[in-house]
Amino acid sequence: MKHNDTIVALATPSGAGAIAVIRLSGDAALEIASGIFTSVSGKVLKEQPTHTIYLGHIKDGERVLDEVLVSVFKNPNSYTGEDVVEISCHGSAFIQQEIIQLCLRKGCRMAQAGEFTLRAFLNAKMDLSQAEAVADLIASDSEASHQLAIQQMRGGFSNEIKRLREELLNFASLIELELDFAEEDVEFANREDFQKLITKITQVLKRLIDSFATGNVLKNGIPVAIVGEPNVGKSTLLNALLNEERAIVSEIAGTTRDTIEDEITIGGIGFRFIDTAGIRETTDTIEGLGIKKTFEKIEQAQVVVYLFDAQEFKVSGSKIKIEIEKIKNKYPRKPLVVVANKIDRLPKNEKTNFIDILTPHTSHLTPISAKTGNGVEDLKNTLLNFVNTGALRNNETIVTNTRHYDSLLKALEEIQKVQTGIDANLSGDLLAIDIRQALYHFGEITGEISNDELLGNIFANFCIGK
Ligand code: GDP
Repeated sequence: MKHNDTIVALATPSGAGAIAVIRLSGDAALEIASGIFTSVSGKVLKEQPTHTIYLGHIKDGERVLDEVLVSVFKNPNSYTGEDVVEISCHGSAFIQQEIIQLCLRKGCRMAQAGEFTLRAFLNAKMDLSQAEAVADLIASDSEASHQLAIQQMRGGFSNEIKRLREELLNFASLIELELDFAEEDVEFANREDFQKLITKITQVLKRLIDSFATGNVLKNGIPVAIVGEPNVGKSTLLNALLNEERAIVSEIAGTTRDTIEDEITIGGIGFRFIDTAGIRETTDTIEGLGIKKTFEKIEQAQVVVYLFDAQEFKVSGSKIKIEIEKIKNKYPRKPLVVVANKIDRLPKNEKTNFIDILTPHTSHLTPISAKTGNGVEDLKNTLLNFVNTGALRNNETIVTNTRHYDSLLKALEEIQKVQTGIDANLSGDLLAIDIRQALYHFGEITGEISNDELLGNIFANFCIGK
């Protein structure tokens, strides 16, 4: 694909709105915009300085399409690093299309997904991991995912990787220099310093790799499976957590046969609640399928919430105990929160009864009333306690991107080979091969090393206009 032609796209969501922004970028952006825009002040757009705004009209020949504001950004001081014009027009879908069509007739090409950001990367306005953070920022839907994306976009992670890469590159050059003087047996690269560097890089890589577990859940939300028999109040609890009527609440037992997912933000962290059909043995085939699905959902979840109707404890207490044990045995490492619902319906002494009996079976027992909201805050806090937000609060670098994670793993593998080489007293030329491989994987993250296929994959996930 060519990257010096002039592209155009709608930068705001499609459909009607108060205002829409149409963006042009490329060598001819100012020329094309000047040809369709007449400013109220009589100024010619292409002669104006960068970072200025003009009121005027977009005209197709003599036909006035809209009254607009036009912003001018000149290369290299723009998002893409090219000449950029942004037309803020009235947000009718018709006007948006007319202006875009006009730009296309005047010589623009329709931008592909992520092409503005791709150009920003190609023009060194940002590195690859920062460009990827732009997509994450647009997709962020909780305080945590937003904070992670902002941190990455501002270069926290890239800078750390770049610093290590430069230090390693420096050593690689020194070692390779020794090879040129092989006969004279000189050592330009101090082996002690080199060992220190390799130790440091190993530590940093391990820390970043470990951070991915946290980063991934913070970015994508923590999956929580809600397990419980029909009618115990799973949908009501979801609604209480959501504070709105989203899941369908019904009096008929077994309505939640399929699974429903809901994303709920608690304390700035996204939780993905998966409502399931419970695990009690049944002869009904549809319910039976539901049980199989429930186990599949527990498998995917990071935390399990087991919900029961506290009113039924007197009669079904032993079944409830068995179910709790079943989940604990099948998933011994998964945090399990046992929630007793409908406590608003209980006489006081019955409450202590189930607490006494269940406490030995679970470390997290929360009595609630999903209907009145009583205890729901406690449940939220219990869930939050399962999330390690320390790294986020301390502003540590957290890896959130699977591609970066893969490259870090490969870099670590190479660095460990270098370490083995040092331990075995290998010669510089052999060490140099593994160092170069490690450098390659560092470079993949920030984009010093890239190819069209990789770039295509990354930017195809963007929206058009970004
Ligand atoms: P699900 O099948 O587990 O999703 O259960 P629902 O959320 O549909 O609730 C079943 C019935 O129990 C509905 O009539 C709810 O209004 C009622 N319910 C749910 N939670 C409570 C609660 O805490 N207290 C009382 N009194 N009723 C509740």
